Amino acid sequence: MKIVETIEEVREQVKEWKKQGLSIGLVPTMGYLHEGHRSLMEAARKNNDKVVVSIFVNPMQFGPTEDLAEYPRDLDHDAALCEGVGVDLIFHPEPEEMYMDDFCSFVDMTGLTEGLCGKTRPIHFRGVCTVVTKLFNIVTPDNAYFGQKDGQQLAVIRRMVRDLNMDIEIVGCPIIREEDGLAKSSRNTYLSGEERKAALILSKTIALGEELAKTEKDAAKVVAAMKENIETEPMAKIDYVEAVDALSMEPVETLDGDCMIAMAVYIGKTRLIDNTLIHN
Ligand code: AMP
Repeated sequence: MKIVETIEEVREQVKEWKKQGLSIGLVPTMGYLHEGHRSLMEAARKNNDKVVVSIFVNPMQFGPTEDLAEYPRDLDHDAALCEGVGVDLIFHPEPEEMYMDDFCSFVDMTGLTEGLCGKTRPIHFRGVCTVVTKLFNIVTPDNAYFGQKDGQQLAVIRRMVRDLNMDIEIVGCPIIREEDGLAKSSRNTYLSGEERKAALILSKTIALGEELAKTEKDAAKVVAAMKENIETEPMAKIDYVEAVDALSMEPVETLDGDCMIAMAVYIGKTRLIDNTLIHN
């Protein structure tokens, strides 16, 4: 497994692989890798000749008051995890390698990015779309792997690839959870022992929503019951709980067709997200 920091080194390697007619799978990450990331890498390993993992804490997707500086980093641990899955190349650039001083080109999206996380994080998806486009241009993968954990992000990337005719297959992978249900996240490391227990309110409420949605099609009723449940946890503060169309991310009144119920909840200072897909 190679670890490289420059775009040029990635391009050289990719050129060699393409000459040999090999397929490439890309897993974009911000590092501090866990089982959720591993599941994406394993899916990539299965279906591609070569697997590239990018590890880049992308400054452009963090707002000025967000956790860019504190975001956890551990390259040695990440490299060992990648090696274990049989990753071929880690791309680990410094911010200066990705963004020159006079960088001024962005990939932006209206609609899908405006609700849910986009309300609290108004510049987030512009940063995501821009960095993912750059990674696609650098690695030129056949397939790219994203987690349903970031459900809105997955929908946004799918739409960007469709709208901008990017010749890349986007593969969505299911949410990987801790044994007690908490969705795995690099940000879980911020939680104190007490907060870690309180954080279970997210997955428990997702399970409640799934159960209610089996018989109740009125989205507002399901969402209200979920909010009420979250409010039973004193350490939790709701950012949003919403039912949306799974493709457009538009709010829905009725849980018909393919929907997503998504939430962001602060546990102390840590903002956690979770969601579930509802198929009716
Ligand atoms: P991140 O490093 O948080 O930017 O995540 C990189 C990729 O891993 C994204 O596509 C995430 O959706 C995905 N991912 C993160 N956590 C999980 C999880 N618990 N289950 C599945 N995928 C995940």
